[in-house]
Amino acid sequence: LFVTFEGGEGAGKSTQIRRLADALRARGHEVVVTREPGGSPGAEAVRHVLLSGAAESFGTRMEAVLFAAARNDHVEEIIRPALAEGKVVLCDRFMDSSRVYQGVTGNLEPDFIETLQRVAINGVVPDCTLMLDLPAKAGLERARRRGAAGDVAPDRFEREEIETHEKRREAFLDIASREPERCHVVNAMQTEEAIAAEIVSIVGQLLAP
Ligand code: C5P
Repeated sequence: LFVTFEGGEGAGKSTQIRRLADALRARGHEVVVTREPGGSPGAEAVRHVLLSGAAESFGTRMEAVLFAAARNDHVEEIIRPALAEGKVVLCDRFMDSSRVYQGVTGNLEPDFIETLQRVAINGVVPDCTLMLDLPAKAGLERARRRGAAGDVAPDRFEREEIETHEKRREAFLDIASREPERCHVVNAMQTEEAIAAEIVSIVGQLLAP
């Protein structure tokens, strides 16, 4: 089973992925936790470039192509082999982040983005996508606190206007409304425990024999 987590900054994706992985392992599933951009050695090298100052001089198209190149490496090296072995793969961000970050707020044509995604994922479509949804302001406050706490460096994407983040929130919700079979919107303003329980229930149903 291939499960992806999507959402804006500070939505709590990494916390919830950790919790879901623990819950599934306790039930005897083999779980692979991974993230984008990155997840394979080649894609982590591209991540390093994308999140560095060097990327500030890249055009949005170049950036989108690099994200797609990293995704393809990640799919072929890590995700497809793990799924073939019957493992559950939990991935922090995937193709919907490209649609939203590079497509909607990067102003790239939908056709260009969809073509890149087809090449990048090469048939490996998530079975389930959990969209952690919260108002941009609340997410940014959380992301800033996390940055201030020193465990994650605030990267260049987190220095943007609140309107940009709101636009991304709407874009994630729009994808969810167009692909309701795959996408589940989870209210990320609930307590950590309540969010975890909702996610376990959604994924548990997909794993039920
Ligand atoms: O998941 P996380 O927030 O750590 O992602 C790292 C950064 O990469 C984010 O700030 C996000 O804005 C950016 N990103 C992006 N396009 C993607 C995936 C991630 O701009 N397709």
